[in-house]
Amino acid sequence: MLFRRHVITGAALGVWLSGVLSPSGTPGLSHPAAARTSRHPPHRKPARPDRRPLVLIDPGHGGKDPGCIGASGTFEKHIALAAARALRRHLQAGGRYRVLLTRDSDVFIPLQGRVEIARRAGAALFISLHANASTDRSAHGTCVYRFAWRASDARAASMAKWENSAERFEDPGLRGASRQVLHILATLMRRETQVHAAKLQQALVKNLATHLTMLPVPAPHARFAVLSAPDIPGVLVEMGFLTNKRDEAALRSPAHRDRLARSIRLGVDRYFAVAARPVRWRS
Ligand SMILES: [Zn+2]
Repeated sequence: MLFRRHVITGAALGVWLSGVLSPSGTPGLSHPAAARTSRHPPHRKPARPDRRPLVLIDPGHGGKDPGCIGASGTFEKHIALAAARALRRHLQAGGRYRVLLTRDSDVFIPLQGRVEIARRAGAALFISLHANASTDRSAHGTCVYRFAWRASDARAASMAKWENSAERFEDPGLRGASRQVLHILATLMRRETQVHAAKLQQALVKNLATHLTMLPVPAPHARFAVLSAPDIPGVLVEMGFLTNKRDEAALRSPAHRDRLARSIRLGVDRYFAVAARPVRWRS
């Protein structure tokens, strides 16, 4: 009965979802040590909560999932992490945001795990960083995706299919559940989240277009699993084509990644300037 090991019951999925859908990961006080601590609170004043918006940066792929492989053998997962660290530096430099990475090392995190990290942390924004690939070695340029049920065009649909295929590296028993979670989360997707994601997408495209070659459709949309959080506006930036020698050389350059990160930060600044307020989860 090997098959039964991987069957996830509705009840088990419900328990898992209740964790996934919980708006905060606040620990309880059920542990005896925690209870003792609560009876004797320290006299120090509690630190004031940091109310700056939290930007979640998601370097694509990692660990056993290399992502696409470049013309000269560059792994997408390494480029994504280096770009994420550069973006973190830029976002932290202004002091206006809190910043968290879904991964800060070469580790594999399932797509729904990334969504869960963002939701548990209470992220105001989610920015996933990737690099593109094509059988056409001359294809080059940048674009910024957002989530939508229907893809804007065939290229966007195949891109979402490729990025969602990171699921093939997951434990076989979780794959079905992962698809169910995507479906449930995406069904809960709020209109205001989509509106804010579109504003974020436009703000990023506007800044990136000032010094990068953008694809003919610079702001497409498709059903990306990693952008399925119903309450967090998110975008997925395809920073360039690793299968194109010039794009690959640029993405390997720290100076280029720094310019790219600066542009994204300016886009984030612009988003917060134009969006009335970030979307928050209210159940
Ligand atoms: Zn990717």
